[in-house]
Amino acid sequence: MHKRTAIVWFRLDLRLHDNEALSEALNSAEEVIPVYVFDERKFKGTTRFGFPKIGSHRAQFIIESVKDLRANLRKLGSDLYVRVGQPEEELFNIARRVKSSWIFCNRERMDEELKVQDSLEQKLWSIGQELRYSRGKLLYYTADLPFPITHTPDSFTLFKKEVERYVPVRQPLPIPERIPPTAVALSSGDIPSLEDFGMLSSPVDKRDFNIFEGGETKGLQRLNDYLWESQSVLNHKDSRNEMLGADYSSKLSPWLALGCLSPKMIYHELKRFDEQYGTRKNKSITCFFLELMQRDFYRLMGKKHGSKIFYESGIRDTENKEWEENQELFMQWVNGETGVPFIDAHMRELKHTGYMSNRGRQNVSSFLINDLGLNWVMGADYFESQLIDYDVCSNYCNWGYAAGVGSDPKEYQNLNIISQAKRFDPNGEYVKYWLPELSMLPAQYIHQPDQLSYKEQEDLHFMIGDDYPKALVSTDRWAS
Ligand SMILES: Cc1cc2nc3c(=O)[nH]c(=O)nc-3n(C[C@H](O)[C@H](O)[C@H](O)COP(=O)(O)OP(=O)(O)OC[C@H]3O[C@@H](n4cnc5c(N)ncnc54)[C@H](O)[C@@H]3O)c2cc1C
Repeated sequence: MHKRTAIVWFRLDLRLHDNEALSEALNSAEEVIPVYVFDERKFKGTTRFGFPKIGSHRAQFIIESVKDLRANLRKLGSDLYVRVGQPEEELFNIARRVKSSWIFCNRERMDEELKVQDSLEQKLWSIGQELRYSRGKLLYYTADLPFPITHTPDSFTLFKKEVERYVPVRQPLPIPERIPPTAVALSSGDIPSLEDFGMLSSPVDKRDFNIFEGGETKGLQRLNDYLWESQSVLNHKDSRNEMLGADYSSKLSPWLALGCLSPKMIYHELKRFDEQYGTRKNKSITCFFLELMQRDFYRLMGKKHGSKIFYESGIRDTENKEWEENQELFMQWVNGETGVPFIDAHMRELKHTGYMSNRGRQNVSSFLINDLGLNWVMGADYFESQLIDYDVCSNYCNWGYAAGVGSDPKEYQNLNIISQAKRFDPNGEYVKYWLPELSMLPAQYIHQPDQLSYKEQEDLHFMIGDDYPKALVSTDRWAS
């Protein structure tokens, strides 16, 4: 009898644990062929404002993740078949060649991914094959939610209230024990390098805490370190507002964004930790869990409101605001040359490492929107390119929130950058770390070098305009 063959299309689910598409394929077919396609349109394309669609930090992380996935599949007896091109073409060609019955994948929901998904589906129908969708991104299954997607509350507080206590997080699926190799002669394909996409690997910056290495193996290791080894998770509620070091927050976001880790698995690990150490009252565990929930919430906002999350007018159709697009100001923000140290330090960290703390992201977005008066979409666009943990819904919805056009509109943020700097970096350690040119400034000026008199600058051999950029906006504006 003819063996049924299934292809598993790995996308933003670069893992073997809790991988529904993989598991359903193994349950449906005698032969399973795992495939990953590097989509050239993304790896070589540009964003709306001209940045590489995938910057080199994230590209490197993806390449590492694909290598790890291949190694782990090989350990189970299988392989990962890698192609470079357009996923709908490459997968169609493989499907035709191996005469599969189905392609299984975890469903994506936003524009670009949908187009690829739909186009592949149409092609498969032409050869009597099917695309089968599974789910793999969220803590919660939409079928378990107490409301239909279209009625998801647009406020995280309300969402949390309706979901937190009443909706269970399902158990993650185990790693398959074995995946038999395919009998079809198929080239496994080379995993490309950054250079193949015309990118240079970023020079190693010694200041980078450098914990981000792609792949399920490293992701699981990081989770183990944060929970069981260092138990840093017990301080999460207080430390997550810090900015310097490897362990002030979980730093799991890149592995979550690329699907190297499943949120359900993290949740159940947290629960196990909680039960073992009797930390039920520990606010940090709750806080960590709520952050994972916020990730779900933004994804549901994306599902509910679709492309609106990308529009200037946001999910609330806010049309009454003119958004400026001054390229020069924007590039000074991008390059960390605004003359406001707390902003510049964060933007330089992002440029050099692909990562920035949540506190930093809140401040630089508020500054771009409220102090430079620029279009929030420009900021989101640069983050899309640069972030190692870029996640379409988390990014655009957090920016929409910052701009007051997203969820929870009454609470949108116009932050006092100097109060924030003094509160979260009281001694200027973070600023000096990323802006060593300011290290000789007296403490009272570290966040406000523009307030130095000419004489003081001369005495310090430090001239604004030469040694550090002139402030784009005077830090006086935040005088309280
Ligand atoms: C303007 C702006 C843009 C952002 N863009 C992204 C993005 O593209 N990708 C991304 O993963 N996060 C984004 N965030 C959310 C947040 O800053 C990061 O998730 C967090 O800093 C990642 O570090 P961590 O893993 O150590 O977080 P932890 O504090 O350890 O949190 C654990 C996990 O919870 C989730 N999480 C935490 N806070 C948020 C949040 N506000 N929104 C959604 N999920 C959250 C993340 O998956 C994170 O890994 C953005 C925030 C802002 C203000």
